[in-house]
Amino acid sequence: MKEYCGVVGIYGHKDAARLAYLALYALQHRGEESAGIVSYDHKKVHLHKGMGLVGSVFNEDTLKKLKGPIAIGHVRYSTTGSSVTKNVQPLLINHKKGFIAVAHNGNLTNSIELSNELEDSGSILQTTMDSELIVHYLVKDHKNNYREKIVPMFSKLEGAYSFVLMINDAIYAMRDPMGFRPLCLGKIDSAYVVASETCAFDMIGATYIRDIEPGEVVIIDENGLTSLKAPNSNLIPRHAFCIFEYIYFSRPDSNIFTKSVYMARKNLGRALAKEHPVSADFVMPIPDSGNYAALGYAEGSGLPLEMAYVRNHYIGRTFIQPSQLIRDFKVRVKLNPIRDVLKGKKIIIVEDSIVRGTTSRSRVKALREAGVSEIHMRVSCPPLISPCFYGIDFPTKKELIAANKSIEEIRQFIGVDSLKFLSLDGMLSSMMLAKEEFCTACFTGNYPTKICKAPSKKALEKRLCKGM
Ligand code: 5GP
Ligand code: MG
Repeated sequence: MKEYCGVVGIYGHKDAARLAYLALYALQHRGEESAGIVSYDHKKVHLHKGMGLVGSVFNEDTLKKLKGPIAIGHVRYSTTGSSVTKNVQPLLINHKKGFIAVAHNGNLTNSIELSNELEDSGSILQTTMDSELIVHYLVKDHKNNYREKIVPMFSKLEGAYSFVLMINDAIYAMRDPMGFRPLCLGKIDSAYVVASETCAFDMIGATYIRDIEPGEVVIIDENGLTSLKAPNSNLIPRHAFCIFEYIYFSRPDSNIFTKSVYMARKNLGRALAKEHPVSADFVMPIPDSGNYAALGYAEGSGLPLEMAYVRNHYIGRTFIQPSQLIRDFKVRVKLNPIRDVLKGKKIIIVEDSIVRGTTSRSRVKALREAGVSEIHMRVSCPPLISPCFYGIDFPTKKELIAANKSIEEIRQFIGVDSLKFLSLDGMLSSMMLAKEEFCTACFTGNYPTKICKAPSKKALEKRLCKGM
């Protein structure tokens, strides 16, 4: 089960839930399957969540009920098997010392071990989310002081986690020591905001302060901000920022890991033009995700940029519905080629990434039908050969086309005249951070943490390994 997610937390604002709602709107691309907000008004905790887009899960009435100056929110996307309402976040647990609400982005890679340990010691797990595990540990012993209880969590949990927790009247924003997924801190008036991406701050008029550091938990309560560090965080060998956040996942108007996504994508395109030039009439993106790399490619190659694919904006992302039938249908309705621009032309199409190859194939087919004479496809990252265990929806090796076919075979499958991928070094050199800062496991198979062994489908359904 894989999860993409977006998280937000607001502390100390009279319209906390409304701000969380707007922030979730800006983070919608990080998860389109479900949305939820928990708020606290110092007397009662309020929760509203459901399946669907942010705009359809909430309305004026539900927002009115989410009272109080503290709120956390979550948007989630997950694949087959887990599309059930009880897995919608935030997860809210009431217990005798109060409540804990969890919004999690990422995937724990030791969730099998943790669930076994918890079940052996008598915990009854309620959901199939690895995010539930942290709650069990936090309520397990009877000490009241969550500040003391939270730091040892860094040693318990393995893998990727950007957590926004609401524990009674405080917010805890916590990022794993390698920093796989982004998490940013901002301010609006005297209120604090945390969110997966800075585009959420822009949406609500908040100012970016800094990132939550890898291996840091920032506690926001009536005393302001307190920063606690993972034990031995200075000994952590490396960071593992997800490079795919820059390639595809984050919004181009965000700064993540402190750098602009837009600039990173444009750099990727420029590098691609340098590595793989080809003569053509013009460059065009596969919208929207290929737009910025195409811009960089056009700049780098000196060729004109055309926008010859028009996107219908009134449908969701193509991977969103788990069933293959709906996915194929959505590919067809989503993009329409402009014949007059394309007819008889030699073109370069720029794509951000190739995962299964199926959408690229149908897009190329539509371009051929529009009368294009030559298609050269350029991809702004290397071939994806290994699944992600840290929160990006990369399928099993079996479904990743580049794990099973040579580049020449992929070229034939997609139906283009030439196909070139950006090199690993070209990709890393395009980033505005040191190469060692990134996780590139999906391109190299080198995982920065140990991975629990792949479970059978049956085991998955039995909720064993949520990291897979
Ligand atoms: P493919 O041709 O491999 O079937 O699909 C490639 C397209 O999927 C690219 O345009 C890329 O932007 C998009 N893509 C890459 N990764 C993901 C993902 O994890 N989720 C979704 N919805 N789209 C993705
Ligand atoms: Mg795309």
